[in-house]
Amino acid sequence: MTVTELVDHSFCARRTYWRRVVSAPRRRTRKMQMGTSYHRAEREDWCARLEIDGFVSRRVPLVSEQFRGVADIVVYGDDTLHVVESKFSLNLEARTHVLQVSTYAAILQASAQEAVHAWLWYPRLDRLVEVRWRDWQGEIAKVVAEIQEIEATGVFPRQAEARFCEECELRRFCGEV
Ligand code: SF4
Repeated sequence: MTVTELVDHSFCARRTYWRRVVSAPRRRTRKMQMGTSYHRAEREDWCARLEIDGFVSRRVPLVSEQFRGVADIVVYGDDTLHVVESKFSLNLEARTHVLQVSTYAAILQASAQEAVHAWLWYPRLDRLVEVRWRDWQGEIAKVVAEIQEIEATGVFPRQAEARFCEECELRRFCGEV
């Protein structure tokens, strides 16, 4: 399962149905394009920001037995690893942001000796927030179980997250919600 699929489900369970049961084609939204161009333009010195000595990698592929994904930034210190997810959003510590970076941290920790720290970076707010990623592992397991149930049963979720519909590229499938 990809981390993107986990985040997608956290936005709206119907997105899991359209993607994993029906395999609906995906269009790039304006929001996705804004995110990509921002990542390219970003030039911050992360070692200075986190006050550690180390080196920085961007767009780091991460794989565990359960998940795969690409973390925005990983900062490698002497005895700590820091995974940072950059969010163009103004919605500080949104549940989906926390779930995403907590999953990346768990993937990293599964194969690392060093202590892993997780951060959310909001450039438009100039805010860097540390996430207690271990506290979110139960919530991640719950989301995984929901996704697996939709896949196994193929049942269309009745519950729609109408607050995300306006920007949702799958709206043409859902119709009026
Ligand atoms: S249009 Fe709304 S209900 Fe349908 S998948 Fe998108 S967010 Fe969910």
